[in-house]
Amino acid sequence: MPRGTDVAVVGGGIVGCLIARHITARAPGTSVVVLDRDTAGSGASRRSAGLHCPRGATERVRRMARYSQDHYDKLKVLDPTLPIHRIALSVVAPAADEPRLREIYLDSARLTRTDSPAGGPPGIRLPESTQVFTCEGAQYADVYGLVQALARELRHAVTFREGVGVEAVDPDAHDAVDGAGVALRLSTGETLKARQVVLAPGPWLAAPAWRDLVAPLGARVKKIIALHVDRPPADGDRAVVFQDEDAFLLPLPERGHWLFSYTCREWDVDPAATADGLSADNAVEARESLRRFAPDLAERALSGRVFCDAYGSTGEPEIRALDADGRVVFAGAAGGSGYRLAPAIASDAVDLLRLPQPRPRPAQNRRSQP
Ligand SMILES: Cc1cc2nc3c(=O)[nH]c(=O)nc-3n(C[C@H](O)[C@H](O)[C@H](O)COP(=O)(O)OP(=O)(O)OC[C@H]3O[C@@H](n4cnc5c(N)ncnc54)[C@H](O)[C@@H]3O)c2cc1C
Repeated sequence: MPRGTDVAVVGGGIVGCLIARHITARAPGTSVVVLDRDTAGSGASRRSAGLHCPRGATERVRRMARYSQDHYDKLKVLDPTLPIHRIALSVVAPAADEPRLREIYLDSARLTRTDSPAGGPPGIRLPESTQVFTCEGAQYADVYGLVQALARELRHAVTFREGVGVEAVDPDAHDAVDGAGVALRLSTGETLKARQVVLAPGPWLAAPAWRDLVAPLGARVKKIIALHVDRPPADGDRAVVFQDEDAFLLPLPERGHWLFSYTCREWDVDPAATADGLSADNAVEARESLRRFAPDLAERALSGRVFCDAYGSTGEPEIRALDADGRVVFAGAAGGSGYRLAPAIASDAVDLLRLPQPRPRPAQNRRSQP
């Protein structure tokens, strides 16, 4: 077991795993430890609907969406068995919003007006004065399954310490052997020394170990609810995004049901407090929202998934150093888009690290400089 490491990644969700992957790709030979107090992928990633919709409200998020879409496409080419599935997508929005829609959807989405039905489950009812657009480039993933696959592949280069919580983070630790670095006190009683640390804690912003370090970001945690609609999807069913309501219907053929995600407005939620499942109020509100688009389906939505996610104060993900020396970097707070933006979050976070330079290759056979 390493006594010290170049980089410790705290949090083994989709963001933490992709950070570890970006580090090993950019600087092979860097020692990386991923720490998770649960098993990897068991946080927000396990509950994720995992929809990637090719859009972004700001230029920065569009850049991140573009990078991430491309990255997932490449991962899927490298391993076609990954649980990432292309999906045909319709966007339903007020006809008058078309110019704004064209701004926020990527060019590669080829947003196209259509007079055809939106193509969701039978019984879907579109709000008045809305227009249907078709959209390319969408996909969805079993995010938990994807994390397991990424972790499996990473284990040859990265140390995974699952079931190991981080209880304290000291960004100013010095000792004679390792010099300056970050000391992580672990639930096992060990102290792990890292030159740099990336915190990818999903919605656990208030963990005592980093609550004070993270507080200046002003990020908050909001509940997210998705109902499971008990109706089997048919071949060729399209996902439908209701742009104005920030809601969507997603067919999940692998699970044999539809999923309906809507915007729950319950803020400052403790992840542990979601463990009891859908509350009576949540169930009524979620079904009420579904009833607006598909009245018949609301009666078939008797279960779902409830958890939470971290939201940045600007509506964009937070990727930044938390201490003056840049040894502790925060990565996340993607506001319900942490799956679809994870590759870009990872890339931007790794940009902030000072990774060991890869060793130069032996000079033999290299032509001398003129
Ligand atoms: C119901 C739902 C639906 C969603 N749908 C979508 C969607 O359609 N599209 C999309 O892009 N996003 C979606 N999201 C958001 C997305 O799932 C999250 O943004 C993303 O999974 C966050 O990944 P993460 O790796 O940052 O966090 P997590 O997956 O939460 O990982 C953080 C990890 O940190 C670990 N940890 C916490 N505290 C400690 C500690 N003290 N020591 C060690 N480890 C610790 C946890 O155990 C956890 O495994 C959804 C989220 C939910 C809840």
